[in-house]
Formats: sequence, structure tokens, C-alpha cells
Amino acid sequence: MGGLLDSFRPDMRARGLKDIDVEALHKQGFCGLLLDLDNTLLPWKDPILPEESESWIESAKQLGMKLCIVSNTHYPNRLTKIAEHLGIDALARALKPRNYGFIKAAELIDCELARCVVVGDQLLTDIWGGNRAGAFTILVNPMHPREFIGTKVSRMIERLIFAALKEPSRV
Ligand SMILES: [Mg+2]
Repeated sequence: MGGLLDSFRPDMRARGLKDIDVEALHKQGFCGLLLDLDNTLLPWKDPILPEESESWIESAKQLGMKLCIVSNTHYPNRLTKIAEHLGIDALARALKPRNYGFIKAAELIDCELARCVVVGDQLLTDIWGGNRAGAFTILVNPMHPREFIGTKVSRMIERLIFAALKEPSRV
């Protein structure tokens, strides 16, 4: 059980993107950021990116990091628009937590998975998938309480895993 439980444990926790020190990650040798979309970059279904997400992504780009949004979204057009606006890659229908999307995204940005950081707000998709794919994982607090109905179900399972991991559900 230890092995399975550990595969849900994020390597790092942060309240949000702006609390993630990209420069430090870059210095540690990471070259890629695989970012979740909803409730990580912006509130679910929102069309507008918050300024703090835009500026964080801009500073990561300036450091030379390569970025790709990896999303299970049912609205690929919205994802494409956001990624184009940011000038970064995107992968829709990523099928997280399966390895597929993370492998594809790492190929897209030409950075091996061991040197990629997965950032997301969900243990069951972003963190579990990212850990099994061999990336470094950072769990952020969800930006907004409004969520897809399927996500609300995942959150119930998540609470049990947080308890087993002896980790708080929010930081
Ligand atoms: Mg999310």
C-alpha cells in the first residue's frame, strides 16, 4: 500500500502559481512545465486568465522554460485560444492520469519527463499521473470552489487520500 499511496504524494505544495519559484526549478535543471488548465491557471470555465497567471508564465518563458498546458478539458477550442494567447503549447484530451498526455506533452516541448514539472490542482489526475510519468509534481490549491460535477466526486476520494497521506487538503 505504501507504494500506491506514495504515488499520490506531491513532491511540493504551493498555494498557487505565484508561490512557485520557477527560477529555483530552472537552476535545479528542470526545463519543462506541464500545466493543468482549470483551477490551476484560471477558474473553471472562465475565459479570462488572471494577471498573476500571465505574469508567472511570462517570467517562466523568459527563463527559457518550455511550457505546455496538459488538460482533460471537454472544450479544446477554449484551451487552444488560451495557449495561443500565452504563446505556449497545449494538449487537449490528455486523458490524465494516464501517462499518454504527459509523454505527448514532453515530446511537444522536447524536454524529457524527468526534467519536467507537473503543476495541477488535483491529486487524482495531475499528481498521480505526473508522479507515475516520472515528472516532479507540484500541487496547488484550486483557484475557485466552482467545479465540474466529475471533479466534485474526485474531491471526495481526494479527501480520503489526503487523510491517508497525513497531508492537509489546502496549504
Ligand atoms: Mg484542474
